[in-house]
Amino acid sequence: MLKVDIEKCTGCGECEEVCSFGAITVLDDKAKVDPELCSLCGTCVDTCPEEALEMESEGPGKEKQDFSAWSGVWVVAEVRGNGFAPVTFELLGKARQLADRLSVPVTAVVLGSAVKEMAPDLVARGADRVIVVDHPGLSNFVDEAYSKIVSHLARKERPEIILAGATAMGRAFIPQVATMLETGLTADCTGLKIEEEGRNLLQTRPAFGGNLMATIICDEHRPQMATVRPHVLKALEPDESRQGEIVEFEPSAELLEHRVKVVESVTEESDGPGLTDAEIVVTAGRGLEQKENLHLVERLAHCLDAGIGATRAVTEAGWISANHQIGQTGVTVSPRLYIACGVSGAIQHLVGMQGSDIIVAINKDKDAPIFDVATYAIVGDVREVLPALIRKVSEERGIKDV
Ligand SMILES: Cc1cc2nc3c(=O)[nH]c(=O)nc-3n(C[C@H](O)[C@H](O)[C@H](O)COP(=O)(O)OP(=O)(O)OC[C@H]3O[C@@H](n4cnc5c(N)ncnc54)[C@H](O)[C@@H]3O)c2cc1C
Repeated sequence: MLKVDIEKCTGCGECEEVCSFGAITVLDDKAKVDPELCSLCGTCVDTCPEEALEMESEGPGKEKQDFSAWSGVWVVAEVRGNGFAPVTFELLGKARQLADRLSVPVTAVVLGSAVKEMAPDLVARGADRVIVVDHPGLSNFVDEAYSKIVSHLARKERPEIILAGATAMGRAFIPQVATMLETGLTADCTGLKIEEEGRNLLQTRPAFGGNLMATIICDEHRPQMATVRPHVLKALEPDESRQGEIVEFEPSAELLEHRVKVVESVTEESDGPGLTDAEIVVTAGRGLEQKENLHLVERLAHCLDAGIGATRAVTEAGWISANHQIGQTGVTVSPRLYIACGVSGAIQHLVGMQGSDIIVAINKDKDAPIFDVATYAIVGDVREVLPALIRKVSEERGIKDV
């Protein structure tokens, strides 16, 4: 609950101004809070020059809960083909840091068919323990069975933190696990750490359309659950000498039961590398001006063996499929080289690509916001710059079919 220290409050009105919920009004030179409207976002607390606002985390008389029975950090591994999705290793790297801070073990949970042999890879990347749920009935991902099994295991073992990838698979079943465990879930986190004093997980993610970063805690329930998008965290180098315990769990028929019939699995065909795995990404923005100019981006991507990205303006115009969209409502990428062609640099786009090592931006407007994050800025018309780049790169690389 938000409290105003009347002694300190000068009625300056700064809190009233920053409150997006209209929850604060200054009356008779003192701030007054409407608890019905207050969302407890805390923006006013940081803004008050007099430090007159304070967030009380516990209601009066509310007992602090005892979570001592909950211990350990879990990562729900994601099997992709014959290996793991890279996000699994990225999560293990972060889980290792969090668990070391809490002095608890890291457990990876892997579900699938014929996955037992893969468990040592999870130990090499930071897990102390792997729970393997290996069953032919899990050969296809089905959210209902997966969520029942993970929540059953979590109820039994009581981890204090569960992390998973904000991938199509994680998004499909992790919210169900949180619901079954009657706990909270912070989706699409970009930062995770343990609070200075205590064991709460500080879960940071963009909020209000990416205009501010919110740090969320789940201090009244366990486990604390978060998903993180691929490429946001750094994986540890594999260490084959690491030792870990591998435990098998045999799911009951009831846990395996589900109502989905998988008719066929189809792998999407693509000429170049997958967008999230590509080392170089060339992105098309509305600055290409018309769909017919998209071939410039496709040709440069071909010369560089790059993935093709797009802004929402481009996918919504139907120039390219939504699978190529990068940003808040698309995928997150962090390639070695990102080339933004006619992209303005809206915050919703930046959140999906600003982790790239080198950013080259081509835009005819020298004040375009994309230049604020660019390593190299090319001020010019994409219809002139791209053909010149394609010519140069294809010459250098000896590519003839462009
Ligand atoms: C809730 C929400 C979620 C969103 N999610 C996403 C998301 O995931 N991803 C995303 O990308 N957007 C997203 N958006 C949309 C985002 O706000 C922007 O509208 C979008 O990114 C703009 O795309 P753009 O840069 O291609 O187009 P514009 O903003 O129109 O920019 C075009 C740029 O091209 C330049 N230009 C024009 N002609 C030329 C030329 N001939 N040569 C060189 N430069 C030229 C212009 O100077 C301009 O800077 C979201 C918006 C909302 C509200």
